[in-house]
Amino acid sequence: MINFGYSRVSTIKAAVEALSKDSNAQWIAGGTNLVDLMKKGVTTPEKLIDINNLPLKEIKKTGNKLYIGALALNSEVAENELVRKEQPLLSLALQAGASQQIRNMATIGGNMMQRTRCSYFYNTDMPCNKREPGTGCGALKGFNRMHAIFGTSEKCIAVHPSDMCIALVALDAAVLVTGPKGDRRISFQNFHRLPGDTPQKDNTLERGELITGIEIPDNSYQDHVHYLKVRDRTSYAFALVSVAAAVNLQGDTIQDVRLGMGGVAHKPWRLTETENFLKGKKASEATFRQAAELALKGAHGFGHNNFKLKLAPNTLVEALKIAAGKA
Ligand code: SF4
Repeated sequence: MINFGYSRVSTIKAAVEALSKDSNAQWIAGGTNLVDLMKKGVTTPEKLIDINNLPLKEIKKTGNKLYIGALALNSEVAENELVRKEQPLLSLALQAGASQQIRNMATIGGNMMQRTRCSYFYNTDMPCNKREPGTGCGALKGFNRMHAIFGTSEKCIAVHPSDMCIALVALDAAVLVTGPKGDRRISFQNFHRLPGDTPQKDNTLERGELITGIEIPDNSYQDHVHYLKVRDRTSYAFALVSVAAAVNLQGDTIQDVRLGMGGVAHKPWRLTETENFLKGKKASEATFRQAAELALKGAHGFGHNNFKLKLAPNTLVEALKIAAGKA
């Protein structure tokens, strides 16, 4: 680990100014990913600006939206009464992430900013276009069991690691940010990005923009939701494939549905076409199988991860069955 400076700020204005003044400074909150990245030499900031004292921890209703401050802890949000009552899918996804100790440290904003767990990215002896653009992608022809099946590029096939974000993309959340040019609101679908030619960029934030919170619009997904995460062990493991499913049923008919998939792409993967297919159909295993076939359109594997081409549709069918009460 390198030597680095450390300071604390207590206002949003000071946090934004501190980063604008220093091109090699980074904010730190829970540090559950950043400290690992620093220990491995993947990230080498000269200065850390501690933002834990900023007033961004509130969870509250604002009109017809649920607001969650960027510094609210993962465990606090997962256990919050309002979240559990109004957005249970988010609570389930948070509980599936990491371990209780990490959820007690990690913030909502940090969860969104966490970087891929591709092992080549963390090994500074290996080529990795995300860590060092232009060096190549070690995973493309290497060991790629955990890697993406959707939206890949020849530059990077990494997956986004968060569980929480899979629920948030399904729930049509928005990300609130502030920066040197003022405030901005980014739809969750447009927050993370596909790798393309610039895999070093995980999201659409500009330098110096700070996440202040998220907003989730009210919805009717309280009764039929499920977050199904398939992983190598039952705790403290990243998803091989995960599905966030929320269904609005009238009798046996699907009125509306939201679907997000994790462990399959460089960003939380929203299945809009599959949702449209399901609307108005009878909730049954046969319908869910057809939907899963549609969901896999355009997917392809890279060798070791070919099993995801079967695992992903099976996980989707199972998640829909559980959410719809048909398991
Ligand atoms: Fe790096 Fe992406 Fe390739 Fe992994 S998949 S080695 S993160 S470029």
